[in-house]
Amino acid sequence: MAKIEIEKARELGFCFGVRRAIKIIETAAKEHERIVTLGPIVHNRMVVTKLAEMGVSVSSDLSQLQDRTIAIASHGVSPELLSQIQAQQLSVVDTTCPIVRSAQRAAKRLAEAGFGVVIFGEATHPEVKGLLGWAGNEAAATLHGEEVANFSLPRRLGILSQTTQNRSQFAKFTNRVISVAFPYVQELRIINTLCEETQKRQEAALELAGKSELMIVVGGHNSANTQRLAETCSSIVETYLIETAAEIEEERLVGRHRIGVTAGASTPDEAIEEVILKLKSFASGNCEP
Ligand code: SF4
Repeated sequence: MAKIEIEKARELGFCFGVRRAIKIIETAAKEHERIVTLGPIVHNRMVVTKLAEMGVSVSSDLSQLQDRTIAIASHGVSPELLSQIQAQQLSVVDTTCPIVRSAQRAAKRLAEAGFGVVIFGEATHPEVKGLLGWAGNEAAATLHGEEVANFSLPRRLGILSQTTQNRSQFAKFTNRVISVAFPYVQELRIINTLCEETQKRQEAALELAGKSELMIVVGGHNSANTQRLAETCSSIVETYLIETAAEIEEERLVGRHRIGVTAGASTPDEAIEEVILKLKSFASGNCEP
């Protein structure tokens, strides 16, 4: 039987922002009985389930949470939502990642300086919804630079990115925006709000994908940064995104001698280790054709 090598990416799993958010919530859960997070604290069911066991629930309806302690997720929130929380005089545990906070400040600075802001990102993602709130009434979010032709373009245009987007995609996006917007725009300001933690995971995944016959990406199916890791790897080699070890399909491993494993920034260490263990058990079993 040929040997099967299983290798982990040199950077994978929980980023410092997610570790920090979970630590803040876990500490708060010991002090407050009824903590509710506005949306999942991170996009991973294993993490949300573990927090639920500590009494931390999830809700999106602020009007139902009069006597609760509200936890703001690492993605942050818009100033409008912050005002609503303050108006209800709710106590708050804020886990907004410092890198997201820095992007929010950049958006606010641009808006206050009179720039219309375009955000490279998914308009429906919680982080982007928050950024849009900080970026003023003229702000818009899109993944397609050509679409700015449909916007009413301001004379001063600012561009920034959802923190977890890919660096080369952001560069392509800004190039497209520049080519579309230049006839109308007098001043252009680009602020690099990308998260280095995400870039390191993407680069390490790409490197590992280049020497693997199959990549397994571990993380929430609803996690944007995990999906982007899977997209990055699948541009090089066959790639599967799974949330737990139970989703591994043995027949997909048949005939593969080098399997790479990476994981999104919201994937706990236990989920990665369970996947590695299961892959190793297959590797020592009967996966050869
Ligand atoms: S991926 Fe980056 S921006 Fe997002 S929580 Fe982690 S450290 Fe913060």
